[in-house]
Amino acid sequence: MTARLFRQDKLLIASHNPGKVNEMGALLRPFGVEVVSAGELNLPEPEETGETFTENARLKALAAALASGLPALADDSGMAVVALGGNPGVRSARWAGPTRDFNAAMKAVEKAMTGFSDRRASFICVLALAWPDGHVECFEGEIEGALVWPPRGNQGFGYDPMFLPNGHSATFGEMSPAEKHKISHRAQAFAKLVRSCFQVRQ
Ligand code: IMP
Repeated sequence: MTARLFRQDKLLIASHNPGKVNEMGALLRPFGVEVVSAGELNLPEPEETGETFTENARLKALAAALASGLPALADDSGMAVVALGGNPGVRSARWAGPTRDFNAAMKAVEKAMTGFSDRRASFICVLALAWPDGHVECFEGEIEGALVWPPRGNQGFGYDPMFLPNGHSATFGEMSPAEKHKISHRAQAFAKLVRSCFQVRQ
């Protein structure tokens, strides 16, 4: 099935995180799309009740599209550890607690790994583009790697310092943003979204 093309002039980024809004806005600039954010429009943040990245991305994008009357783009992402049955997964942010302490979250992951020799993990990102008529397109990106301990590097965010992507000698925490964005789960999901739904405008 071919995806629905984005033909409107304005797109709502369904996020209150200025970092995500800037990153997505920059990636969409070549397509001549005007970007507004859920934060700017004071839209409420829906609760992430889904059990999968796709469910959460869909519910965030749909809630924003229905509330604003604009097409809306949302992402949901996290780190899935094989030995932990995919955890922290959709609860990646929640493992860091209300203060978003990712040093504590990385320690909690390492503690949960006690006794496991299988250290495979991946980062997953799902982007959902929803229209006010209820139509939604979803795109998933994934990068596989392994957990290292102790954490290495202070670039990036979240679990980056403990994630070593396959085929690389630097963790995400040691890579420059440009290096990370060439291979990351988010970049891969974005490439799929753009290929399927966006056309460069003259
Ligand atoms: P979301 O805002 O609900 O999608 O939560 C995503 C959470 O997953 C973030 O708070 C991070 O903990 C984690 N995460 C997602 N992508 C990355 C990444 O590229 N590096 C490190 N952590 C990430």
